[in-house]
Amino acid sequence: MTQTFTNWSGSVSFTPAERAAPASSKQLTKLVKEAGNLGHTIRPVGSGHSSTPLFTTEQTLLSLERLSGMTHADPDQRLAAVLPGTGLRDLGEQLAEHGLAMENLGDVDYQAIAGAISTGTHGSGIGLGNLSSTLAGGTLVNGVGEEVPFGVTAGAPLDHPESDDLLRAAQVSLGTLGILTSLTLRVEEAHQLHRQNWITHIDWVLENYQQLVETNRSMDFYWYPRSDLAQVRMLNKPGDEPELTPEGEPYSYLKKDVVGPNYQIIPNDRHLHFEEMEYMLPFDPQLGAFQQIRERIKAKHRAQVGWRVLVRTIAADQAMLSNAEGTYRNGGLPTMTIALLQNNSLPYKPYFDDLEPVFGQFAGRPHWGKKHSLKAEQLAPLYPDWESFHRIRRQMDPTGVFLNNYLRELFGEEAKTS
Ligand SMILES: Cc1cc2nc3c(=O)[nH]c(=O)nc-3n(C[C@H](O)[C@H](O)[C@H](O)COP(=O)(O)OP(=O)(O)OC[C@H]3O[C@@H](n4cnc5c(N)ncnc54)[C@H](O)[C@@H]3O)c2cc1C
Repeated sequence: MTQTFTNWSGSVSFTPAERAAPASSKQLTKLVKEAGNLGHTIRPVGSGHSSTPLFTTEQTLLSLERLSGMTHADPDQRLAAVLPGTGLRDLGEQLAEHGLAMENLGDVDYQAIAGAISTGTHGSGIGLGNLSSTLAGGTLVNGVGEEVPFGVTAGAPLDHPESDDLLRAAQVSLGTLGILTSLTLRVEEAHQLHRQNWITHIDWVLENYQQLVETNRSMDFYWYPRSDLAQVRMLNKPGDEPELTPEGEPYSYLKKDVVGPNYQIIPNDRHLHFEEMEYMLPFDPQLGAFQQIRERIKAKHRAQVGWRVLVRTIAADQAMLSNAEGTYRNGGLPTMTIALLQNNSLPYKPYFDDLEPVFGQFAGRPHWGKKHSLKAEQLAPLYPDWESFHRIRRQMDPTGVFLNNYLRELFGEEAKTS
């Protein structure tokens, strides 16, 4: 009897028949072939921080924790090759040893790199893409147990530009093209960041939003429904900080003011567990969607929901299933994101269900790893490359060894009967 697996927030729980943690690509390949021969489902898991049932399976749950660490760093080309189970915190430290750093990070660094990339994990910054957009290539084990290289391979003499579509599919694939066994990342020179977190009134943020977004390297804000205060978080290279701050405004004070290496300064510690719904919307400096969300929360949910709402931005990218994909939707314009958070010991469903249609009005695309209710029918029109992605997915995994029933429904594939 294997142990029950429960995700970080506690809302996804299942007991796989087998838990495997291969220590080499060879062992991994064997496991995928065996699962295929038996008609079983094999699902990879990173650190289990997603709260949609992406990794559930009654059969084999595959942990990549033993395939961890950086295998190659190329400071001249700004590329690094890493193994899939590498935690983001370790990755930051290992890159720093080579004078390198990730361009940006999300709110925490608990995730494994392959898990974070596979759902389009992002931070904030109008000129900064999500983590998936830094995936330049790598290797995956497809559904028939073949190792398939794609994109650029750090340290290898030959690139694979012909597999450009495969790269754009693999950048956000929810673990359905294959198991990523090596990832080549585009990285930056190591740099310091100055974090300034200001508490101020939401009205000041609304008045200055466009300028705040445009003049900071990274800027986001939390809105607190009960008090109508906001926390504006700005990240800049020291010396590049803009003049605009809420200093002197009513209620305003500087809550945090620190400088350090980017991989230490961007992520936060999160001890209270929560459920989250986050939607990606076309960038709107007037914050139309946020205004509607705010009104509705104030009118209907303020008594039950004390948790904050987070607003961020992401640069456009080209990955087929990236919810910041901007080539078609926006003509390359950036994305803004709105996230609702709720303490995981309180009911989240009535709150999220009530607000989700507002995101729909703004052509929102859900975060793949956070709560949402969309299925293939609603998702397909939001992604111009939806069909191309699924064509490639079927080529890579012809028998659907990587598809659980949740993914089958998400993608509009028939449910497995046995
Ligand atoms: C506290 C907290 C903070 C968060 N902050 C942010 C944030 O700031 N920004 C943001 O965008 N998201 C954020 N998230 C969401 C989180 O980043 C994503 O859900 C992410 O995918 C989780 O990474 P993981 O390693 O836990 O992967 P998992 O949740 O374990 O898996 C995610 C997906 O990756 C697949 N996968 C895992 N390994 C492989 C592999 N080797 N090959 C192929 N597929 C694989 C899995 O099958 C699954 O489909 C946050 C979540 C929490 C709980």
